[in-house]
Parts: sequence; C-alpha cells; structure tokens
Amino acid sequence: MNQPKITLIHHTSNPEQTIQFAARVCASSKPINDLLNEPAEGGFLKKLHSLGHLSPFEHVSFTFAVEGISRACSHQLVRHRVGTAFSQRSQRYTFSPKDVRFPQTITPWRHHLHKSVDLYKEAIEAGVSREDARYLLPQAITTTLIATFNARALLHFFALRACRQAQREIQELARQMFESVYAIAPNLFALAGPPCKTCENDACRGVPRSEFEGSWS
Ligand SMILES: Cc1cc2nc3c(=O)[nH]c(=O)nc-3n(C[C@H](O)[C@H](O)[C@H](O)COP(=O)(O)OP(=O)(O)OC[C@H]3O[C@@H](n4cnc5c(N)ncnc54)[C@H](O)[C@@H]3O)c2cc1C
Repeated sequence: MNQPKITLIHHTSNPEQTIQFAARVCASSKPINDLLNEPAEGGFLKKLHSLGHLSPFEHVSFTFAVEGISRACSHQLVRHRVGTAFSQRSQRYTFSPKDVRFPQTITPWRHHLHKSVDLYKEAIEAGVSREDARYLLPQAITTTLIATFNARALLHFFALRACRQAQREIQELARQMFESVYAIAPNLFALAGPPCKTCENDACRGVPRSEFEGSWS
C-alpha cells in the first residue's frame, strides 16, 4: 500500500451548532434548552474566530483513522500536543513491516530501504525481539494510527501543516483530513488553512493538487 488512507471515523454531531451553542451560553441569559435549539448561523463562527473566542471550538472533536503514512510523517503529526489524542500501532507487537512510503527523489536508493527490512526479518529469525529489531527499520516504514483533534486543535494543525512550509507528506495528510471535515462542517473549516493573508512569502499561496501527484512511492 503506497497511498495513505485517511478515514473520518467519528465526529461530534452538529459540530457548528454545538460551537455556536457553547458561545451563546457565554453571553446570554436564555434557558439552556432555548439556546440548544437555535439553528447554526453561517457567519457566526467566523466572527467568533476573528474575536479569538476559541474555547467554544474545543467542544467538538473529529477522529481519523490514518493508514499508510511514513513514520517520518507520523512523528510530525504526534508533535501536536494540545487538544489531540493519538493511538499508534506498535512495532513491538505487529509482526512484519512490508510497506514503505517515500518521496520519489530517493528512488535510486530504495534498495537500502528494502535491505533494512530484510535485515529486520533476519534479526527476528535469529531470535532478536521485535522491540529491539525495529531499530533497524527506516523512517519510510508506514504506520497506522487513530488521531482525534478538537476543532480548535484541528484549525491550528491546518494552519501549520496545510502550509507550504510544512513537509509535503504532512501537507498531503492535512489536505485529506481537511477534505473530509470540510464536507461535514463547511462554515467551520472555511476558517482553516495557512495564514496566507499575513504571510510575507506569496509563493506559499494555493499549492495546486497536481504538485502532490506522482511525488510518492
Ligand atoms: C514547517 C515546520 C517545521 C518544523 N520543524 C521542526 C524542527 O526542525 N524541529 C522540531 O523539533 N520541530 C519542528 N516542527 C514542529 C513544531 O516545532 C511543533 O512542535 C509542531 O508544529 C506542533 O505545533 P504546536 O506546538 O503549535 O502544537 P501543539 O503542541 O498542539 O500546541 C498548540 C499551541 O499550544 C501552545 N502550547 C503548547 N505547549 C506549550 C508550551 N509548553 N508552552 C507554551 N505554549 C504551549 C502554543 O501556543 C501552541 O502553538 C516544525 C513544524 C513546522 C510546521
């Protein structure tokens, strides 16, 4: 498997309404049930976001199954500490790595990756424990994890990782995660993305999808 697979497996129901509800509670003396039933208004979240009133965004969460990203990429993903949870498949327990994901620029040296995997298998056969043998494995080995973000953390993640300054694999991951949540909550995730308006580097604007195609093996 060379293409990552990102699946939105769970999210808070009515995320936009939930955020609006939490924010309304802060500034209204109406009974909770009245506020709970107010329909979501399109521009409300944008106003809330621009004011920096961000705690209401923490009341909704999104859980993704992430399959087939490299360990290099997963290491970057799990650096996002706040408002997140990660559960990653352990190399101590999984039997044998067989999938690698790497940029095409290193294709001429890919036999080294496969050699590392062969050495890993050789060590296991020689009786080395999996937890020790995995030190032989390259960062290109793919991994599977479950990632949960609250909406505030997810907007922050998109700001940093959908940005062209981020490494390409995690840009692609961010793009796929964005597409799945935008379909659920378009007003909320219209707020997502790199802060291009304040970025001094105009070259960062709008990375076309085609730039990602054919770049990975
Ligand atoms: C382009 C790019 C290049 C990078 N290069 C490197 C690199 O070379 N080496 C490297 O080690 N990392 C690197 N990183 C990772 C980066 O330093 C962050 O660890 C990562 O992006 C997570 O961001 P965060 O800390 O904002 O997110 P979170 O951990 O989710 O934190 C969210 C926010 O909470 C606040 N916060 C969290 N913890 C603290 C704290 N302890 N004190 C004060 N405020 C806190 C901050 O406002 C923070 O932005 C890079 C990231 C990017 C996007």
